[in-house]
Amino acid sequence: MSEDQFDLVVIGAGPGGYVCAIRAAQLGMKVACVDKRGTFGGTCLNVGCIPSKALLAASEKFEEAVHHFKDFGIKVGKPSVDLKAMMKHKDGVVNDNVKGIEFLFKKNKVEGVIGAAKIVSKGEVEVTNGKKKRTLKAKNIVIATGSDVASLPGIEIDEKRVVSSTGALELKEIPKSMVVIGGGVIGLEMGAVWSRLGTKVTVVEYLDRILPTMDGEVSKSMKKVLEKQGIEFKLSSKVTEVKAASKSVSLKIEPAKGGDEEKMKADIVLVAVGRKPFTEGLGLEDVGVKLDDRGRVEIDGHFKTNVDGIYAIGDVVKGAMLAHKAEEEGVVLAEQLADIKAHLNYDAIPSVVYTWPEVASVGATEEELKEAGRDYKVGKFPFLANGRARAINATDGFVKILADKETDKVLGCHILGPEAGHLIAEVVTVIEYGGTAEDIALTCHAHPTLSETVKEAALDLHGRALHK
Ligand code: FAD
Ligand code: NAD
Repeated sequence: MSEDQFDLVVIGAGPGGYVCAIRAAQLGMKVACVDKRGTFGGTCLNVGCIPSKALLAASEKFEEAVHHFKDFGIKVGKPSVDLKAMMKHKDGVVNDNVKGIEFLFKKNKVEGVIGAAKIVSKGEVEVTNGKKKRTLKAKNIVIATGSDVASLPGIEIDEKRVVSSTGALELKEIPKSMVVIGGGVIGLEMGAVWSRLGTKVTVVEYLDRILPTMDGEVSKSMKKVLEKQGIEFKLSSKVTEVKAASKSVSLKIEPAKGGDEEKMKADIVLVAVGRKPFTEGLGLEDVGVKLDDRGRVEIDGHFKTNVDGIYAIGDVVKGAMLAHKAEEEGVVLAEQLADIKAHLNYDAIPSVVYTWPEVASVGATEEELKEAGRDYKVGKFPFLANGRARAINATDGFVKILADKETDKVLGCHILGPEAGHLIAEVVTVIEYGGTAEDIALTCHAHPTLSETVKEAALDLHGRALHK
Protein backbone atom coordinates (compact mmCIF):
# COMPACT_ATOMS: atom_id res chain seq x y z
CA MET A 1 0.00 0.00 0.00
CA SER A 2 1.41 3.44 -0.90
CA GLU A 3 1.99 5.82 2.00
CA ASP A 4 -1.13 7.83 1.08
CA GLN A 5 -3.38 4.79 0.65
CA PHE A 6 -5.35 3.75 3.74
CA ASP A 7 -8.05 1.26 4.69
CA LEU A 8 -9.65 3.97 6.82
CA VAL A 9 -9.33 7.74 7.06
CA VAL A 10 -11.00 9.24 10.13
CA ILE A 11 -11.74 12.98 10.04
CA GLY A 12 -11.63 14.43 13.55
CA ALA A 13 -9.47 13.21 16.44
CA GLY A 14 -11.98 13.72 19.26
CA PRO A 15 -13.12 10.81 21.45
CA GLY A 16 -15.20 9.44 18.57
CA GLY A 17 -12.52 9.71 15.91
CA TYR A 18 -9.36 8.81 17.82
CA VAL A 19 -10.97 5.78 19.47
CA CYS A 20 -12.38 4.58 16.13
CA ALA A 21 -8.92 4.97 14.58
CA ILE A 22 -7.18 3.04 17.38
CA ARG A 23 -9.73 0.18 17.37
CA ALA A 24 -9.56 -0.10 13.56
CA ALA A 25 -5.75 -0.25 13.74
CA GLN A 26 -5.95 -2.92 16.45
CA LEU A 27 -8.07 -4.92 14.01
CA GLY A 28 -5.37 -4.75 11.34
CA MET A 29 -6.47 -1.78 9.23
CA LYS A 30 -4.08 0.87 7.95
CA VAL A 31 -5.52 4.04 9.46
CA ALA A 32 -5.00 7.82 9.32
CA CYS A 33 -6.77 10.20 11.70
CA VAL A 34 -6.85 13.87 10.65
CA ASP A 35 -7.52 16.90 12.85
CA LYS A 36 -7.20 20.58 12.04
CA ARG A 37 -6.91 21.70 15.67
CA GLY A 38 -3.14 21.24 15.96
CA THR A 39 -3.46 18.81 18.85
CA PHE A 40 -5.39 15.55 19.07
CA GLY A 41 -8.24 14.78 21.49
CA GLY A 42 -10.97 17.01 20.01
CA THR A 43 -13.32 19.22 21.96
CA CYS A 44 -13.28 16.83 24.89
CA LEU A 45 -9.58 16.87 25.71
CA ASN A 46 -8.77 20.39 24.53
CA VAL A 47 -11.71 22.62 25.50
CA GLY A 48 -14.37 20.35 27.00
CA CYS A 49 -14.53 17.43 29.42
CA ILE A 50 -10.93 17.50 30.59
CA PRO A 51 -10.20 21.21 31.23
CA SER A 52 -13.65 21.69 32.78
CA LYS A 53 -13.05 18.80 35.17
CA ALA A 54 -9.61 20.17 36.06
CA LEU A 55 -11.21 23.51 37.04
CA LEU A 56 -14.12 21.78 38.78
CA ALA A 57 -11.64 19.77 40.87
CA ALA A 58 -9.53 22.82 41.73
CA SER A 59 -12.49 25.04 42.60
CA GLU A 60 -14.02 22.25 44.67
CA LYS A 61 -10.87 22.04 46.77
CA PHE A 62 -10.96 25.82 47.31
CA GLU A 63 -14.63 25.67 48.31
CA GLU A 64 -13.83 22.88 50.79
CA ALA A 65 -10.95 24.86 52.27
CA VAL A 66 -13.10 27.99 52.66
CA HIS A 67 -16.34 26.46 53.87
CA HIS A 68 -15.90 22.89 54.98
CA PHE A 69 -12.45 22.23 56.50
CA LYS A 70 -13.70 23.73 59.76
CA ASP A 71 -16.48 21.12 59.96
CA PHE A 72 -13.74 18.47 60.08
CA GLY A 73 -11.84 20.34 62.78
CA ILE A 74 -9.19 21.69 60.42
CA LYS A 75 -8.00 25.24 60.87
CA VAL A 76 -6.20 27.00 58.03
CA GLY A 77 -5.44 30.65 57.32
CA LYS A 78 -7.82 32.42 54.95
CA PRO A 79 -7.49 30.50 51.67
CA SER A 80 -7.08 32.55 48.51
CA VAL A 81 -7.02 31.74 44.82
CA ASP A 82 -3.97 31.98 42.59
CA LEU A 83 -5.93 31.89 39.34
CA LYS A 84 -2.79 31.74 37.19
CA ALA A 85 -1.63 28.63 39.02
CA MET A 86 -5.10 27.09 38.80
CA MET A 87 -5.13 27.67 35.04
CA LYS A 88 -1.62 26.22 34.83
CA HIS A 89 -2.89 23.06 36.51
CA LYS A 90 -5.73 22.88 33.95
CA ASP A 91 -3.41 23.52 30.99
CA GLY A 92 -0.98 20.87 32.26
CA VAL A 93 -3.75 18.30 32.49
CA VAL A 94 -4.90 19.13 28.94
CA ASN A 95 -1.34 18.95 27.61
CA ASP A 96 -0.66 15.57 29.22
CA ASN A 97 -3.92 14.19 27.83
CA VAL A 98 -3.44 15.40 24.26
CA LYS A 99 0.17 14.15 24.27
CA GLY A 100 -1.27 10.83 25.46
CA ILE A 101 -3.27 10.53 22.23
CA GLU A 102 -0.11 11.12 20.15
CA PHE A 103 1.51 8.28 22.11
CA LEU A 104 -1.49 5.98 21.57
CA PHE A 105 -1.47 6.73 17.83
CA LYS A 106 2.22 5.80 17.62
CA LYS A 107 1.73 2.67 19.72
CA ASN A 108 -1.16 1.49 17.54
CA LYS A 109 0.45 2.61 14.25
CA VAL A 110 -2.30 5.13 13.48
CA GLU A 111 -0.97 7.98 11.36
CA GLY A 112 -2.03 11.20 13.08
CA VAL A 113 -2.28 13.96 10.46
CA ILE A 114 -2.63 17.65 11.30
CA GLY A 115 -4.69 19.67 8.81
CA ALA A 116 -8.17 20.52 7.61
CA ALA A 117 -9.78 17.61 5.78
CA LYS A 118 -12.17 17.84 2.86
CA ILE A 119 -13.80 14.87 1.17
CA VAL A 120 -13.12 15.54 -2.50
CA SER A 121 -14.66 12.35 -3.86
CA LYS A 122 -15.69 8.91 -2.64
CA GLY A 123 -12.49 7.46 -1.19
CA GLU A 124 -10.43 10.68 -1.34
CA VAL A 125 -9.69 13.14 1.44
CA GLU A 126 -7.68 16.27 0.80
CA VAL A 127 -5.79 17.60 3.81
CA THR A 128 -4.64 21.22 3.93
CA ASN A 129 -2.11 22.44 6.46
CA GLY A 130 -1.02 26.01 5.68
CA LYS A 131 0.33 25.90 2.15
CA LYS A 132 0.79 22.14 2.18
CA LYS A 133 -1.79 19.82 0.61
CA ARG A 134 -1.91 16.05 0.71
CA THR A 135 -4.51 13.66 -0.69
CA LEU A 136 -5.27 10.55 1.33
CA LYS A 137 -6.97 7.66 -0.44
CA ALA A 138 -9.21 5.44 1.65
CA LYS A 139 -11.46 2.40 1.27
CA ASN A 140 -13.64 3.92 3.97
CA ILE A 141 -13.99 7.40 5.48
CA VAL A 142 -15.39 8.27 8.92
CA ILE A 143 -16.73 11.75 9.66
CA ALA A 144 -16.12 12.44 13.35
CA THR A 145 -15.99 16.23 13.22
CA GLY A 146 -17.96 16.78 16.42
CA SER A 147 -19.80 19.92 17.38
CA ASP A 148 -19.35 23.63 17.97
CA VAL A 149 -20.85 26.20 20.32
CA ALA A 150 -24.39 27.34 19.50
CA SER A 151 -25.39 30.95 20.14
CA LEU A 152 -28.62 32.90 20.11
CA PRO A 153 -29.75 35.34 17.44
CA GLY A 154 -28.35 38.82 18.09
CA ILE A 155 -25.80 37.64 20.67
CA GLU A 156 -22.20 37.84 19.61
CA ILE A 157 -19.74 35.66 21.50
CA ASP A 158 -16.48 37.63 21.71
CA GLU A 159 -14.86 35.19 24.22
CA LYS A 160 -13.93 38.21 26.36
CA ARG A 161 -17.09 39.60 28.01
CA VAL A 162 -19.59 37.33 26.28
CA VAL A 163 -18.06 33.88 26.41
CA SER A 164 -18.82 30.30 25.42
CA SER A 165 -17.54 27.39 27.52
CA THR A 166 -14.18 27.84 25.79
CA GLY A 167 -13.85 31.44 27.03
CA ALA A 168 -15.20 30.48 30.45
CA LEU A 169 -12.28 28.04 30.79
CA GLU A 170 -9.78 30.82 30.11
CA LEU A 171 -10.89 33.86 32.16
CA LYS A 172 -7.91 35.91 33.29
CA GLU A 173 -9.52 37.14 36.50
CA ILE A 174 -12.36 36.08 38.77
CA PRO A 175 -15.43 38.05 37.69
CA LYS A 176 -17.56 39.67 40.39
CA SER A 177 -20.72 38.64 38.57
CA MET A 178 -21.68 36.27 35.78
CA VAL A 179 -24.96 35.64 34.00
CA VAL A 180 -25.17 32.16 32.53
CA ILE A 181 -27.69 31.75 29.70
CA GLY A 182 -28.85 28.13 29.80
CA GLY A 183 -29.31 25.88 32.84
CA GLY A 184 -27.98 22.75 31.14
CA VAL A 185 -24.78 20.82 31.80
CA ILE A 186 -22.27 23.46 30.74
CA GLY A 187 -24.18 26.25 32.50
CA LEU A 188 -24.18 24.37 35.80
CA GLU A 189 -20.63 23.01 35.61
CA MET A 190 -18.97 26.27 34.57
CA GLY A 191 -21.36 28.28 36.76
CA ALA A 192 -20.29 26.12 39.72
CA VAL A 193 -16.59 26.66 38.99
CA TRP A 194 -16.82 30.46 39.07
CA SER A 195 -19.39 30.57 41.88
CA ARG A 196 -17.03 28.58 44.10
CA LEU A 197 -14.22 31.00 43.30
CA GLY A 198 -16.35 33.93 44.47
CA THR A 199 -18.39 35.07 41.44
CA LYS A 200 -22.08 35.91 41.94
CA VAL A 201 -23.66 33.58 39.37
CA THR A 202 -27.20 33.94 37.99
CA VAL A 203 -28.48 31.24 35.63
CA VAL A 204 -31.21 32.26 33.19
CA GLU A 205 -33.09 29.25 31.83
CA TYR A 206 -35.80 29.37 29.18
CA LEU A 207 -37.70 26.34 30.45
CA ASP A 208 -39.33 25.97 33.87
CA ARG A 209 -36.55 23.70 35.18
CA ILE A 210 -32.81 23.27 35.01
CA LEU A 211 -31.31 20.13 33.41
CA PRO A 212 -34.50 19.68 31.39
CA THR A 213 -33.61 16.25 30.00
CA MET A 214 -32.90 14.75 33.42
CA ASP A 215 -35.43 13.19 35.83
CA GLY A 216 -37.73 15.94 37.16
CA GLU A 217 -37.24 15.11 40.83
CA VAL A 218 -33.48 15.24 40.41
CA SER A 219 -33.50 18.62 38.64
CA LYS A 220 -35.77 20.10 41.29
CA SER A 221 -33.54 18.92 44.15
CA MET A 222 -30.40 19.94 42.27
CA LYS A 223 -31.71 23.50 41.95
CA LYS A 224 -32.29 23.68 45.71
CA VAL A 225 -28.80 22.35 46.45
CA LEU A 226 -27.15 24.84 44.08
CA GLU A 227 -29.23 27.69 45.52
CA LYS A 228 -27.90 26.75 48.96
CA GLN A 229 -24.42 27.09 47.46
CA GLY A 230 -25.23 30.64 46.31
CA ILE A 231 -26.20 30.23 42.64
CA GLU A 232 -29.34 32.15 41.68
CA PHE A 233 -31.81 30.93 39.06
CA LYS A 234 -34.28 32.73 36.81
CA LEU A 235 -36.42 30.01 35.25
CA SER A 236 -38.97 30.43 32.44
CA SER A 237 -37.00 33.46 31.34
CA LYS A 238 -35.46 34.57 28.07
CA VAL A 239 -32.60 36.94 27.39
CA THR A 240 -33.68 39.40 24.70
CA GLU A 241 -30.59 41.59 24.50
CA VAL A 242 -26.92 41.32 25.40
CA LYS A 243 -24.71 44.38 24.97
CA ALA A 244 -21.04 44.14 25.81
CA ALA A 245 -19.05 47.21 26.87
CA SER A 246 -15.36 47.26 27.80
CA LYS A 247 -15.86 46.41 31.48
CA SER A 248 -19.34 44.88 31.75
CA VAL A 249 -22.29 43.48 29.87
CA SER A 250 -25.89 44.71 30.05
CA LEU A 251 -28.75 42.31 29.49
CA LYS A 252 -32.49 42.48 29.04
CA ILE A 253 -34.50 39.56 30.33
CA GLU A 254 -38.20 38.78 29.92
CA PRO A 255 -40.48 36.02 31.14
CA ALA A 256 -40.44 33.28 28.45
CA LYS A 257 -44.16 33.75 27.84
CA GLY A 258 -43.80 37.53 27.58
CA GLY A 259 -44.20 40.21 30.24
CA ASP A 260 -42.24 42.94 31.95
CA GLU A 261 -38.63 43.34 30.95
CA GLU A 262 -35.88 43.26 33.57
CA LYS A 263 -32.43 44.81 33.14
CA MET A 264 -29.28 43.17 34.48
CA LYS A 265 -25.57 43.91 34.43
CA ALA A 266 -22.74 41.44 34.77
CA ASP A 267 -18.98 41.31 34.35
CA ILE A 268 -19.28 38.22 32.16
CA VAL A 269 -22.07 36.49 30.25
CA LEU A 270 -21.68 32.78 29.52
CA VAL A 271 -23.76 31.50 26.62
CA ALA A 272 -24.50 27.81 27.26
CA VAL A 273 -27.59 27.03 25.21
CA GLY A 274 -26.32 23.88 23.51
CA ARG A 275 -23.95 22.83 20.73
CA LYS A 276 -24.46 22.29 17.02
CA PRO A 277 -23.03 19.62 14.71
CA PHE A 278 -19.88 20.75 12.89
CA THR A 279 -19.75 20.00 9.15
CA GLU A 280 -18.28 23.19 7.67
CA GLY A 281 -15.58 22.85 5.02
CA LEU A 282 -15.92 19.08 4.74
CA GLY A 283 -17.20 19.14 1.18
CA LEU A 284 -20.31 17.12 2.06
CA GLU A 285 -22.53 18.89 -0.48
CA ASP A 286 -20.07 18.14 -3.29
CA VAL A 287 -20.01 14.40 -2.55
CA GLY A 288 -23.75 14.34 -1.80
CA VAL A 289 -23.71 13.35 1.90
CA LYS A 290 -27.16 14.13 3.34
CA LEU A 291 -27.73 16.12 6.53
CA ASP A 292 -30.90 15.84 8.63
CA ASP A 293 -33.22 18.72 9.55
CA ARG A 294 -30.94 19.68 12.46
CA GLY A 295 -27.78 19.82 10.38
CA ARG A 296 -26.48 16.46 11.63
CA VAL A 297 -24.96 13.92 9.24
CA GLU A 298 -27.73 11.44 8.52
CA ILE A 299 -26.81 7.82 9.23
CA ASP A 300 -28.51 4.41 9.27
CA GLY A 301 -28.32 1.92 12.14
CA HIS A 302 -24.73 1.06 11.09
CA PHE A 303 -23.37 4.65 11.00
CA LYS A 304 -23.52 4.60 7.17
CA THR A 305 -24.33 7.83 5.37
CA ASN A 306 -26.22 7.77 2.09
CA VAL A 307 -22.86 7.62 0.24
CA ASP A 308 -21.11 4.24 0.09
CA GLY A 309 -17.88 4.09 2.07
CA ILE A 310 -18.64 7.23 4.14
CA TYR A 311 -19.67 6.83 7.77
CA ALA A 312 -20.27 9.23 10.69
CA ILE A 313 -20.18 9.04 14.50
CA GLY A 314 -20.17 11.19 17.64
CA ASP A 315 -21.54 14.72 18.16
CA VAL A 316 -21.96 15.24 14.41
CA VAL A 317 -24.73 12.58 14.30
CA LYS A 318 -27.98 12.13 16.23
CA GLY A 319 -28.02 11.23 19.92
CA ALA A 320 -26.52 12.58 23.13
CA MET A 321 -23.48 14.81 22.74
CA LEU A 322 -21.28 12.86 25.11
CA ALA A 323 -17.67 11.77 24.82
CA HIS A 324 -18.31 8.17 25.88
CA LYS A 325 -21.23 7.86 23.41
CA ALA A 326 -18.86 9.02 20.65
CA GLU A 327 -16.18 6.56 21.82
CA GLU A 328 -18.53 3.59 21.89
CA GLU A 329 -19.79 4.47 18.42
CA GLY A 330 -16.16 4.62 17.26
CA VAL A 331 -15.45 1.13 18.58
CA VAL A 332 -18.65 -0.40 17.22
CA LEU A 333 -18.10 1.15 13.77
CA ALA A 334 -14.46 -0.03 13.59
CA GLU A 335 -15.59 -3.55 14.51
CA GLN A 336 -18.41 -3.50 11.96
CA LEU A 337 -15.90 -2.45 9.29
CA ALA A 338 -13.83 -5.49 10.30
CA ASP A 339 -16.94 -7.71 9.85
CA ILE A 340 -17.36 -8.24 13.59
CA LYS A 341 -20.97 -8.22 14.82
CA ALA A 342 -20.97 -5.22 17.14
CA HIS A 343 -23.79 -3.18 18.54
CA LEU A 344 -24.38 -0.31 20.95
CA ASN A 345 -27.17 -0.25 23.54
CA TYR A 346 -28.28 3.40 23.64
CA ASP A 347 -30.42 2.67 26.73
CA ALA A 348 -27.28 2.04 28.73
CA ILE A 349 -25.40 5.29 28.15
CA PRO A 350 -24.90 7.21 31.39
CA SER A 351 -24.90 10.96 31.68
CA VAL A 352 -23.14 12.85 34.46
CA VAL A 353 -23.05 16.46 35.64
CA TYR A 354 -19.79 16.99 37.51
CA THR A 355 -20.92 19.57 40.05
CA TRP A 356 -20.81 18.86 43.78
CA PRO A 357 -22.93 16.93 44.49
CA GLU A 358 -22.92 15.26 41.09
CA VAL A 359 -25.93 14.24 39.05
CA ALA A 360 -25.85 10.93 37.20
CA SER A 361 -28.49 9.30 35.12
CA VAL A 362 -29.01 6.23 32.94
CA GLY A 363 -32.04 4.87 31.10
CA ALA A 364 -35.56 6.25 31.29
CA THR A 365 -36.69 9.10 33.53
CA GLU A 366 -39.93 8.85 35.50
CA GLU A 367 -41.51 11.40 33.12
CA GLU A 368 -40.58 9.24 30.11
CA LEU A 369 -42.05 6.10 31.68
CA LYS A 370 -45.29 7.95 32.50
CA GLU A 371 -45.51 9.27 28.96
CA ALA A 372 -44.95 5.78 27.55
CA GLY A 373 -47.73 4.46 29.82
CA ARG A 374 -45.36 1.92 31.31
CA ASP A 375 -46.11 0.27 34.70
CA TYR A 376 -43.11 0.82 36.91
CA LYS A 377 -41.95 0.75 40.52
CA VAL A 378 -39.73 3.32 42.24
CA GLY A 379 -37.11 2.73 44.92
CA LYS A 380 -35.39 5.63 46.65
CA PHE A 381 -32.74 6.06 49.28
CA PRO A 382 -31.31 9.31 50.70
CA PHE A 383 -27.59 9.89 51.24
CA LEU A 384 -28.53 11.32 54.64
CA ALA A 385 -29.11 7.75 55.83
CA ASN A 386 -25.74 6.47 54.57
CA GLY A 387 -22.91 6.24 57.11
CA ARG A 388 -20.12 7.04 54.65
CA ALA A 389 -21.98 10.08 53.27
CA ARG A 390 -22.28 11.36 56.84
CA ALA A 391 -18.58 10.70 57.49
CA ILE A 392 -17.60 12.83 54.50
CA ASN A 393 -20.25 15.48 55.24
CA ALA A 394 -21.99 14.97 51.90
CA THR A 395 -25.56 14.08 52.71
CA ASP A 396 -27.45 16.03 50.01
CA GLY A 397 -29.31 13.95 47.46
CA PHE A 398 -30.65 10.46 46.84
CA VAL A 399 -30.57 7.42 44.59
CA LYS A 400 -33.71 6.64 42.62
CA ILE A 401 -34.16 3.37 40.73
CA LEU A 402 -37.01 2.70 38.31
CA ALA A 403 -37.92 -0.88 37.40
CA ASP A 404 -40.64 -2.61 35.40
CA LYS A 405 -43.56 -3.39 37.72
CA GLU A 406 -43.95 -6.96 36.50
CA THR A 407 -40.50 -8.14 35.48
CA ASP A 408 -38.46 -5.99 37.92
CA LYS A 409 -36.06 -5.19 35.03
CA VAL A 410 -34.16 -1.96 35.75
CA LEU A 411 -35.35 0.77 33.37
CA GLY A 412 -33.56 3.79 34.78
CA CYS A 413 -31.52 5.19 37.63
CA HIS A 414 -31.10 8.80 38.69
CA ILE A 415 -28.66 9.89 41.34
CA LEU A 416 -28.05 13.24 42.95
CA GLY A 417 -25.23 12.92 45.41
CA PRO A 418 -21.53 12.54 46.14
CA GLU A 419 -19.64 10.55 43.49
CA ALA A 420 -22.88 9.93 41.57
CA GLY A 421 -20.82 9.55 38.37
CA HIS A 422 -18.95 6.58 39.82
CA LEU A 423 -22.03 5.08 41.49
CA ILE A 424 -24.06 4.99 38.27
CA ALA A 425 -21.57 2.55 36.67
CA GLU A 426 -23.04 -0.34 38.66
CA VAL A 427 -26.54 0.33 37.37
CA VAL A 428 -25.28 0.80 33.80
CA THR A 429 -23.81 -2.72 34.00
CA VAL A 430 -27.06 -4.13 35.36
CA ILE A 431 -29.06 -2.48 32.55
CA GLU A 432 -26.53 -3.72 29.96
CA TYR A 433 -27.02 -7.27 31.27
CA GLY A 434 -30.82 -6.89 31.33
CA GLY A 435 -30.75 -7.25 35.12
CA THR A 436 -33.38 -6.56 37.77
CA ALA A 437 -33.61 -4.39 40.86
CA GLU A 438 -33.42 -7.61 42.84
CA ASP A 439 -30.03 -8.38 41.24
CA ILE A 440 -28.74 -5.13 42.79
CA ALA A 441 -30.54 -5.75 46.10
CA LEU A 442 -29.03 -9.25 46.45
CA THR A 443 -25.49 -8.13 45.65
CA CYS A 444 -23.13 -7.55 48.58
CA HIS A 445 -21.91 -3.93 48.69
CA ALA A 446 -18.90 -3.03 50.85
CA HIS A 447 -19.51 -1.17 54.08
CA PRO A 448 -19.16 1.72 54.63
CA THR A 449 -19.41 2.93 51.04
CA LEU A 450 -21.62 5.34 49.15
CA SER A 451 -22.56 2.39 46.92
CA GLU A 452 -24.75 1.05 49.72
CA THR A 453 -27.27 3.76 48.78
CA VAL A 454 -27.72 2.03 45.40
CA LYS A 455 -28.38 -1.31 47.07
CA GLU A 456 -30.77 0.30 49.56
CA ALA A 457 -32.69 2.05 46.74
CA ALA A 458 -33.07 -1.36 45.05
CA LEU A 459 -34.24 -2.87 48.37
CA ASP A 460 -36.64 0.05 48.80
CA LEU A 461 -38.15 -0.75 45.41
CA HIS A 462 -39.31 -4.02 47.03
CA GLY A 463 -40.40 -2.25 50.22
CA ARG A 464 -37.56 -3.64 52.31
CA ALA A 465 -34.87 -0.97 52.67
CA LEU A 466 -32.93 -1.72 55.85
CA HIS A 467 -31.70 1.72 56.89
CA LYS A 468 -34.63 3.98 55.98
P1 FAD B 1 -15.10 16.42 19.01
O1 FAD B 1 -14.50 16.08 20.31
O2 FAD B 1 -15.78 17.72 18.87
O3 FAD B 1 -13.90 16.32 17.96
C1 FAD B 1 -14.05 16.66 16.62
C2 FAD B 1 -12.72 17.10 16.06
O4 FAD B 1 -12.87 17.20 14.66
C3 FAD B 1 -12.24 18.47 16.53
O5 FAD B 1 -10.98 18.36 17.17
C4 FAD B 1 -12.15 19.31 15.27
O6 FAD B 1 -11.00 20.13 15.25
C5 FAD B 1 -12.02 18.23 14.19
N1 FAD B 1 -12.50 18.66 12.88
C6 FAD B 1 -13.69 19.22 12.56
N2 FAD B 1 -13.76 19.44 11.23
C7 FAD B 1 -12.58 19.02 10.71
C8 FAD B 1 -12.04 18.98 9.41
N3 FAD B 1 -12.71 19.40 8.33
N4 FAD B 1 -10.79 18.50 9.25
C9 FAD B 1 -10.07 18.06 10.30
N5 FAD B 1 -10.54 18.05 11.55
C10 FAD B 1 -11.77 18.52 11.76
N6 FAD B 1 -18.89 14.98 27.40
C11 FAD B 1 -18.82 14.03 28.34
O7 FAD B 1 -19.14 12.86 28.07
N7 FAD B 1 -18.38 14.31 29.62
C12 FAD B 1 -18.03 15.55 29.99
O8 FAD B 1 -17.66 15.78 31.13
C13 FAD B 1 -18.11 16.59 29.02
N8 FAD B 1 -17.76 17.85 29.34
C14 FAD B 1 -17.80 18.82 28.38
C15 FAD B 1 -17.46 20.12 28.74
C16 FAD B 1 -17.49 21.13 27.80
C17 FAD B 1 -17.11 22.52 28.20
C18 FAD B 1 -17.87 20.83 26.45
C19 FAD B 1 -17.89 21.90 25.41
C20 FAD B 1 -18.23 19.55 26.09
C21 FAD B 1 -18.20 18.53 27.05
N9 FAD B 1 -18.58 17.23 26.74
C22 FAD B 1 -18.54 16.25 27.70
C23 FAD B 1 -19.02 16.85 25.39
C24 FAD B 1 -17.86 16.17 24.62
O9 FAD B 1 -16.77 17.05 24.58
C25 FAD B 1 -18.30 15.78 23.23
O10 FAD B 1 -19.46 14.98 23.30
C26 FAD B 1 -17.21 15.00 22.53
O11 FAD B 1 -16.02 15.73 22.44
C27 FAD B 1 -17.66 14.59 21.12
O12 FAD B 1 -16.64 13.87 20.50
P2 FAD B 1 -16.48 13.84 18.92
O13 FAD B 1 -15.32 12.94 18.67
O14 FAD B 1 -17.76 13.52 18.28
O15 FAD B 1 -16.13 15.34 18.49
P1 NAD C 1 -27.62 21.62 27.12
O1 NAD C 1 -28.48 21.19 26.01
O2 NAD C 1 -27.20 20.67 28.17
O3 NAD C 1 -28.32 22.84 27.88
C1 NAD C 1 -28.73 23.99 27.23
C2 NAD C 1 -29.75 24.68 28.13
O4 NAD C 1 -30.02 25.94 27.60
C3 NAD C 1 -31.09 23.93 28.21
O5 NAD C 1 -31.48 23.83 29.56
C4 NAD C 1 -32.03 24.80 27.39
O6 NAD C 1 -33.36 24.73 27.83
C5 NAD C 1 -31.42 26.17 27.65
N1 NAD C 1 -31.74 27.16 26.63
C6 NAD C 1 -31.82 27.01 25.29
N2 NAD C 1 -32.13 28.19 24.70
C7 NAD C 1 -32.22 29.10 25.69
C8 NAD C 1 -32.51 30.50 25.72
N3 NAD C 1 -32.75 31.18 24.61
N4 NAD C 1 -32.50 31.12 26.92
C9 NAD C 1 -32.25 30.44 28.07
N5 NAD C 1 -31.98 29.12 28.09
C10 NAD C 1 -31.96 28.45 26.92
O7 NAD C 1 -26.35 22.29 26.40
P2 NAD C 1 -24.98 22.79 27.02
O8 NAD C 1 -25.04 22.88 28.49
O9 NAD C 1 -24.60 23.97 26.22
O10 NAD C 1 -24.02 21.60 26.63
C11 NAD C 1 -23.81 21.24 25.26
C12 NAD C 1 -23.54 19.79 25.11
O11 NAD C 1 -22.29 19.45 25.69
C13 NAD C 1 -24.61 18.96 25.77
O12 NAD C 1 -25.18 18.12 24.81
C14 NAD C 1 -23.91 18.16 26.81
O13 NAD C 1 -24.29 16.81 26.79
C15 NAD C 1 -22.44 18.28 26.47
N6 NAD C 1 -21.73 18.42 27.75
C16 NAD C 1 -21.68 17.35 28.58
C17 NAD C 1 -21.10 17.47 29.81
C18 NAD C 1 -21.08 16.30 30.72
O14 NAD C 1 -21.34 15.20 30.26
N7 NAD C 1 -20.77 16.47 31.99
C19 NAD C 1 -20.55 18.67 30.21
C20 NAD C 1 -20.63 19.74 29.35
C21 NAD C 1 -21.21 19.59 28.11
